[in-house]
Amino acid sequence: MTTITVIPGDGIGPEVTHQGTETLEALGLALDIDVLDHVNAETYLQTRTALSDDDFARVRASASTLLGAVGDARVDSDYARQVLLRLRIELDLFVNYRPARLFHDRLSPLRQPEHRPIDCVIVRENTEGLYSQAGGVLRSGTEHETALDVDINTFHGVSRILDFAFSIATRSVCMVDKSNAVRHGGQLWQRCFQEISSRHPELEITHEYVDAAAMKLVADPTRFDVIVANNSYGDILSDLAAELAGGLGTSASANINGATGFGLFEPVHGTAPDIAGQGIANPIGSILSAALLIERLGYTAEAQAVRNAVNVAIEAGQVTPDLGGQLSTKDAGAAIRAHL
Ligand code: ATP
Repeated sequence: MTTITVIPGDGIGPEVTHQGTETLEALGLALDIDVLDHVNAETYLQTRTALSDDDFARVRASASTLLGAVGDARVDSDYARQVLLRLRIELDLFVNYRPARLFHDRLSPLRQPEHRPIDCVIVRENTEGLYSQAGGVLRSGTEHETALDVDINTFHGVSRILDFAFSIATRSVCMVDKSNAVRHGGQLWQRCFQEISSRHPELEITHEYVDAAAMKLVADPTRFDVIVANNSYGDILSDLAAELAGGLGTSASANINGATGFGLFEPVHGTAPDIAGQGIANPIGSILSAALLIERLGYTAEAQAVRNAVNVAIEAGQVTPDLGGQLSTKDAGAAIRAHL
């Protein structure tokens, strides 16, 4: 038996994650599902502990984790950081893996049909860059206040994310940076990219500055297979790609340690407090995150079966209101499982 941990979390997290785990159960795999349903803002309010050492140990001992969403207006952002950053940093989940696949034409904002069938992956560096929290404030509160956020790029961090991107590419790799303007980090990325590219003559290799990449992604996303970028550019491009492929409700993601293989899988959306508890949240992001999870555990055919079932349900209009349907979260999840 392989154990996976599940953290449903807050907001629509429990609703959509329930559909993810039900879908895994419907596949009848040899999985032991360990649900940590007490890791949420309610517990934090009572105990001031976001993720206890015991819970962290359960996560670490499992093969992977399926996460819903964490966050709540009643608690400060420290809570979500304590859960997410602890998992990302202590488990060294250095890859943020964001597939964008258009399941149905009708979900695409692109006008030309031949430019619509998007099926790419954004590989975002997840531990360095502008989001590493290095920096500080000088002369705080004065008219000379100076705020610094340091863009950290290490040889180790850049090499390993590029290695991961090349390891999953089937057609091409496009590296995105802004090395013409952000020179020091940019040159490190360029050097590492050239070195690794020379070892992969089988792949088409391209490079884009981030502004051009955004434009080309919208003009014709079909030209991309794997896009690799630093933390901030990857963050922005993956939301853009998610929207092109049908919006937040359908987008899945993974945070992966490329060395140990441990992954934290979660829908791209957050807790969506505006619709939480109404039973209308789209479960597809969570169900496709669960599919990614089993795919990385080796269940390739089963993961593809889940994606096919999602495809058929979307085609049949058996979807929640955000995709133009009328089904509840539960019924949309059940419709997908019926097509498995
Ligand atoms: P957080 O602060 O946790 O990120 P948020 O509301 O700022 O929450 P999201 O949760 O990503 O950000 O939601 C953004 C918008 O998208 C909201 O209007 C929400 O209702 C909608 N949305 C997000 N996820 C879903 C979903 N699964 N199904 C339907 N609508 C969704």
